[in-house]
Amino acid sequence: MTTFAVTVQKPVIAGNWKMHKGPLEAREFFASFLSAHAPRDDRAVIFFPPAISFAAAAEAVRDRPDLLLGVQNIHWEPKGAFTGEISAAMAAEAGAAFALVGHSERRHIFKETDEDVRRKTAAALAAGIVPVICLGETIQEREAGRVEEVIVRQLDAALDGLAPSEAAATLIAYEPVWAIGTGVNATPEDAAHAHGVLRSRLAERIGEDAARNVPILYGGSVKPENAGALLAAADVDGLLVGGASLEPRAFAAIAGV
Ligand code: PEP
Repeated sequence: MTTFAVTVQKPVIAGNWKMHKGPLEAREFFASFLSAHAPRDDRAVIFFPPAISFAAAAEAVRDRPDLLLGVQNIHWEPKGAFTGEISAAMAAEAGAAFALVGHSERRHIFKETDEDVRRKTAAALAAGIVPVICLGETIQEREAGRVEEVIVRQLDAALDGLAPSEAAATLIAYEPVWAIGTGVNATPEDAAHAHGVLRSRLAERIGEDAARNVPILYGGSVKPENAGALLAAADVDGLLVGGASLEPRAFAAIAGV
């Protein structure tokens, strides 16, 4: 397995388009976004378009090295009879620098398990792609006082078997399930608490210095109106944005926070 360390500029502002925007709409989006967001070197801005629109997005940002691209999902095998899937190596060849793994919609709609997330995390790293490990509790788990237990379990499962240098080359996205696409975001205090728990667990696994460098993103109903306060919360190194990343001006406002 490849071992490497990456430094991703913080803050990280990422847009997950989910199953929105074919190639035409992707081009239209960037025609507007590129003029609304001037290049800046004090942050990383990452887009996760649908795989079918990846080439259109890559073409659109060709002259904007400040804008990075990732895929929303990968399979853990390098190739084979897995109809409909794409491998990490294929994504890398197409220009993806990042891959979402364990997004709550993959876990809950497509029944992906912690073990699937572990395999995808390892596959991404092996292909030289930075995995963005998404995790977070359901409302039932929160109400039962199980937030810490659940997110530490998900983190440990994703990193299981990795060398510390590999675990240090990941991004983490704390996305409470109850906040995704609901319009109800976690408070900055709740986000800071969960991020602190994740940072401490990372420190136990890979050491304090390395843990400090791993960007931990918050995701869940981020909008231009709440982005600043969430990003200012302790241990929040970036934002993973779903719905509001679909609208160029809204996402430019968040990316400029
Ligand atoms: C997401 O898809 O990762 C997400 C956080 O969605 P939304 O911003 O729409 O809640």
